[in-house]
Amino acid sequence: MKYISTRGKDKLSSSFEAIVKGIASDGGLFMPEKFNKVNLSQDIKDRMDYRDFAEVIISTIFDDIDKKILREIIDKAYSKENFSVDNALKVEEVNSLYIMELFHGRTSAFKDFALSILPYFILLAKDKDKKIGILTATSGDTGKAALEGFKNLKDTFIIVFYPTDGVSPIQKYQMLTQEGTNVYAIGIKGNFDQAQSALKDAFNDKELRDFLELKNILLSSANSINIGRLVPQIVYYFYAYYDLVKKSKIKDGEEINVAVPTGNFGNILAAYLAKVMGLNIGNFIVASNKNNVLTDFFNSGIYNANREFYKTNSPSMDILISSNLERLLYLKAPEELNSYMESLKNNGTYKISDECRKSLKEFKGYYAEDDEALEIIKKYYKNFDYLCDTHTAVCLKAVEDYLKENDDNRKILLASTASFYKFPASIGKALNISGSDDFNIIENINKITNIPIPENLKNLDKKEILQNIVIDKEYIKKEIMKILGDNDEN
Ligand SMILES: *Cc1c(COP(=O)(O)O)cnc(C)c1O
Repeated sequence: MKYISTRGKDKLSSSFEAIVKGIASDGGLFMPEKFNKVNLSQDIKDRMDYRDFAEVIISTIFDDIDKKILREIIDKAYSKENFSVDNALKVEEVNSLYIMELFHGRTSAFKDFALSILPYFILLAKDKDKKIGILTATSGDTGKAALEGFKNLKDTFIIVFYPTDGVSPIQKYQMLTQEGTNVYAIGIKGNFDQAQSALKDAFNDKELRDFLELKNILLSSANSINIGRLVPQIVYYFYAYYDLVKKSKIKDGEEINVAVPTGNFGNILAAYLAKVMGLNIGNFIVASNKNNVLTDFFNSGIYNANREFYKTNSPSMDILISSNLERLLYLKAPEELNSYMESLKNNGTYKISDECRKSLKEFKGYYAEDDEALEIIKKYYKNFDYLCDTHTAVCLKAVEDYLKENDDNRKILLASTASFYKFPASIGKALNISGSDDFNIIENINKITNIPIPENLKNLDKKEILQNIVIDKEYIKKEIMKILGDNDEN
């Protein structure tokens, strides 16, 4: 497969290059030259093994990775060790909605789906004599999932930058206690957008590149700007759809809607790519929290990041620059994209053309405030005996609002993106469960609900703190040079 930058200048001739490079040199994001339709055999639909779906779908895009090797990688990535349920996910029927639980991986967030496999792609892609430095900004869940994915991997280093005050205490503890010889979690004073933009600059920094070139180190990214992360996420939409077919909840070919709690626009873009590749999806319900820049965008055609940034109880969605939206706009209006991105960079805002806006009709933006999310958590627990996290709650609220405004009886598949145990303070507040600290609240929620605590979140407070660097964002580049420079010597 050939790849092209959304901004048109950078072209690559293989999936490997696109995965290792992460971000294009013109500042754009890599896209495959085309998306072929997925061809799932009846046999695969009958067998319903997640790894079969992954093989067919990933190889449709990454068609230059050897099939046999790809299958080996998939088997390792989606193994019983990495996911605690069969076939990596579960679809639960709650209040006539189908909740796709994507949080049964190693770090209890959906990020595990992509970050269990991305390290293998990068190892495959890299030159034997080169080392790889993975740089990643996180709004909470990517960081831990990436650290786990890359830990102790040969010839790679991973540095995760997280906003010190922008992640939940549990998310932070997950990163601070990270073990591994090649892992670094670094706190940034600032928010996710600032961390992400400082990193994007680092990627295109000449001095840094030259320094790393001398040391034989290539930079890559584990953020969802990396196409190697996006592609594995397409798989679960197909899998969940056919799970519903198999359980006779929908007919094969029936059109459904999809709802996704959205931050950087990666997960919902993967759903859209599933549609491009042949899955019958009607509307996409884009759920945001109080940082509702996407809600306004889909309602008005104006993207405006010049607004107050809020810290909410769904921190992984506290984002004002949703990077992957660029990929959607590229698919819809490639010749207009550069002017939009230019305007975003210079003015923090852009307005899309009427035609482009029309082409986005299937995207429906809704948002929920913090207290509305807590109300939903309480309601779903009391009425339907289903406990969800704050991000999923934002999405459930968006779906309720969508259904109020639209007479639409298509079934809805809703992505549940994290275990509620990652956000105990909010769950405690919603259900009136208290405790001396987050860890104690986890125990109390467990006692009251009897829902098992995921292995990786047990006794987190008793683990040793191994990562404790905090810096100003101006020093990101320096810190990268220090870490990667030092590592080269030993
Ligand atoms: C990352 C994350 C999101 C947002 O996903 P995007 O792909 O960035 O839109 C939503 N919920 C949780 C729990 C997350 O970790």
